[in-house]
Amino acid sequence: MTSYHLPDQEHQQKLISLFKELGQIKDLNKKKLARVVKKYPKSPGDLFNKYELVTAYRQLAGKHGLKQIQSQVMRYLRKKPIRTSSGVTPITVLTKPFPCPGKCIFCPNDIRMPKSYLADEPGAQRAERNYFDPYLQTYNRLRALDEIGHNIDKVELIILGGTWSYYPELYQIWFIKECFRALNEYGKKDSRNDILKHYKKMNKKLNQMKAHPLSRNPEKNKQDLQEKKIEGKNLEKTYNQTISEIYTAPEKIGGFDQYQTSNWEELLAVQKINETATQRCVGLVVETRPDNISKAEIIRIRRLGATKVQIGFQSLNDKVLEKNHRGHDVRAIKKAVKLLRLAGFKIHAHWMANLYGSDVSGDKKDYHKLFDDKNFRPDELKIYPCSLLSSAELMQYYQDGRWQPYSYEELLEVLSYALVNTPEYCRLTRVIRDISSADIVEGNKKTNFRQIVEQHLDKLGQKMSDIRAREIRHQKFDEKAVQLTEVTYKTNIGKERFLQFVVPQPNLPDKIVAFLRLSLPKEKPFIKELENSAVIREIHVYGQAVKIGKKDRQRPQHLGFGTRLIQKAKEIAIAEGYKKLAVISGIGTREYYRKKDFKDGKLYQFMILD
Ligand code: SF4
Repeated sequence: MTSYHLPDQEHQQKLISLFKELGQIKDLNKKKLARVVKKYPKSPGDLFNKYELVTAYRQLAGKHGLKQIQSQVMRYLRKKPIRTSSGVTPITVLTKPFPCPGKCIFCPNDIRMPKSYLADEPGAQRAERNYFDPYLQTYNRLRALDEIGHNIDKVELIILGGTWSYYPELYQIWFIKECFRALNEYGKKDSRNDILKHYKKMNKKLNQMKAHPLSRNPEKNKQDLQEKKIEGKNLEKTYNQTISEIYTAPEKIGGFDQYQTSNWEELLAVQKINETATQRCVGLVVETRPDNISKAEIIRIRRLGATKVQIGFQSLNDKVLEKNHRGHDVRAIKKAVKLLRLAGFKIHAHWMANLYGSDVSGDKKDYHKLFDDKNFRPDELKIYPCSLLSSAELMQYYQDGRWQPYSYEELLEVLSYALVNTPEYCRLTRVIRDISSADIVEGNKKTNFRQIVEQHLDKLGQKMSDIRAREIRHQKFDEKAVQLTEVTYKTNIGKERFLQFVVPQPNLPDKIVAFLRLSLPKEKPFIKELENSAVIREIHVYGQAVKIGKKDRQRPQHLGFGTRLIQKAKEIAIAEGYKKLAVISGIGTREYYRKKDFKDGKLYQFMILD
């Protein structure tokens, strides 16, 4: 599982003593850790680093009387505990550069990336270094997180890049199959070398064809493609044309697209293995446009294993959508939301402030509509204020004075309004896109703007109650203080009941420990197996991700909150007259639901209600 091996008996002895001493320390902190690490050097003048400590600890845990101190030491050694504080480890993978049907004027045209991504973004760089290969990206990310001590048992796989539904179906199946294969093989088998050999062969052929070779070196790619880079002000060729010329066409001529192809049987086989694998995919997210959502598309992505869709609303104003060349209207957004809801999907919307054609008061009105109008009401939201990027067409609008980025004060006003007016059932996953300041020509360059807004609201005595602001994270709590509360709201297909276990806080919004989204549709579903069903769209229990099957007292995972929420959902569904309770389960959660008396259907799992 790891590449670090304990070198010899002497080092092992040192590490055991080191861990034992750490285990005896109350309130371990940086200083105390450093003192103990210094006391047991690897060799004179050479100390064990965090990676070595974590890896060695994993190998030694359970032996030499170290088991009882594991959680304290491991908790401290985790470098970035925030990443898994929501109970699940997110792994983001990017699809390859590929044409997109959209022509949005704000969208960057970085031909090294799938549409809308920039090569400087950290996730994008990781993807580029892995040839955008799904297996390599997933495996290497698992390894990196594992090495710094994260628990990687429960993974939410987030597939980003352009418009997912526009990629060929066989590529989509292959992409997801390879992600699952990496999850299944991690810690048991390693196919990375075989895959790398394949890319080497492909490159040799591309060179012979005098086509653009694939490189794992972002700097080399940058130089190679510099002269082809499309600037918004000089759109000689569009992103789509360039991508087709330098990637898609040679791939076809060289027959490489055959490699990135799979079939449903192969996908089903790796999904089956993942149901009981060590690293399970508990949620799968794809990203698309509202006008690419149809009944057939929803059934297809459900077959792929998707549980959530990231979908660009961007604006709820037809004029603004038109001015930005979005290529769809608000009606398309309403329709997409309705279809996704009827299929029980979680809806993760993207909304943009400061778009061409809008202003501060227009943005506030638009944001109000997002939650006031039952046609929208997303479960999660990314707020992306429009950034001025040199490769986007918007650059022309800026240069001829048609569009200006918001001032600091204007941005603060819109985002403060948004943060305060996000309801309890929605999770604000992002407030500013993590774009390198070097890529932004003009306007806000602060990626910590969320913090700035939070501090501003704090001064004004205003509170935020969205899910992210209320997550319990690493805080311990008294189980007896936990209460079940509920938010009920109307949707465009019926009613939604958001059940939550919370810990009340004096003068502050309640902390959230666990929640369940229960959809009570009044409209006939287009998927037959959902007829007469209430649908559990999500169950989430917070706390540092806990190994499947292990208990950690006083932290919320495995304290039975999930079971209690399901029981409550069942009671509600019966009282509301439904015959079945369905769940849109992730592949890696199927076993969990089977143990909770859910039976497998074709695309969902069900409980028949008495
Ligand atoms: S649909 Fe998305 S990826 Fe495509 S151009 Fe528009 S913003 Fe960019």
